[in-house]
Amino acid sequence: MDHVTPEGHPERVARLEHVLHALEGLDLHRVTAPMAAEDDLLRIHPKSYIEGLRAALPASGFAQIDGDTFLSPGSMEAAWRGAGAVVRAVDMVMAGDVANAFCALRPPGHHAEKETAMGFCLFGNAALAAKHALDHHGLSHVAVVDFDVHHGNGTQDLLWDEARALTITSQQMPLWPGSGRPDETGAYDNVLNLPLAPDTGGEEMRALYEAQVFPRLRAFKPELIVISAGFDAHRDDPLAALNWETGDFRWLTRQLCTLAAELCGGRVVSTLEGGYDLEALAQSTRAHVEELMEAGK
Ligand SMILES: [Zn+2]
Repeated sequence: MDHVTPEGHPERVARLEHVLHALEGLDLHRVTAPMAAEDDLLRIHPKSYIEGLRAALPASGFAQIDGDTFLSPGSMEAAWRGAGAVVRAVDMVMAGDVANAFCALRPPGHHAEKETAMGFCLFGNAALAAKHALDHHGLSHVAVVDFDVHHGNGTQDLLWDEARALTITSQQMPLWPGSGRPDETGAYDNVLNLPLAPDTGGEEMRALYEAQVFPRLRAFKPELIVISAGFDAHRDDPLAALNWETGDFRWLTRQLCTLAAELCGGRVVSTLEGGYDLEALAQSTRAHVEELMEAGK
């Protein structure tokens, strides 16, 4: 919450306040996110990029690093703890300390490319989770499922030539950032892009995931599923025009957890991405975490 954005910016402190408030009362095993080690970040970003961000950090006020991405004095610690969160989550899930994990963090991560911060994102958290599981824990198959309404261009960029990772991302199209066409399939046919027309509702989403996502996951046989959990496909979200409802996020989470139980001992690490209507974000996150908890029983 020390990552502050200018007045009127949609990716704001209040988002995390609402998420944490929505999770009150749940019997969660809570862990404070540690700072990532630089070696963790170097799995996904070059040193020059990390140092560039550090150098851009303002002593007060804001530094603008692209059209809609800002740094405040607390942003680097927030981003480093966000990256540390997914690393710790993977460690805990792989050790069997917990069945699954949700990382309540901001700034989000799935738009950050190797050398480019963009779309509110600084470090590619979901890709880092996958890389950490592959390189540190020695897994050979990790899947990333990104249901944020925007294309996970950063995750796609970071895992494009990672044959051990399958990246599946659904997104409204047309919509910023504009990428995410079906013919973007990765260096090893390891990326699946699913564009959705504006106004796509929950029933169409469910049919698409049943037809294309779940069979692809079954065929890939992941040992861990990483979820880029953005809740901006909700019908109330101000930044996009899909018509999913809270129950759709609950359904999708349940399906992914069921698949994880079938394929990889239930191992799921989910990380917060977008979601800009505070009430929809809060309710959808609550539903998402409730399903994770139910699956972990
Ligand atoms: Zn988004």
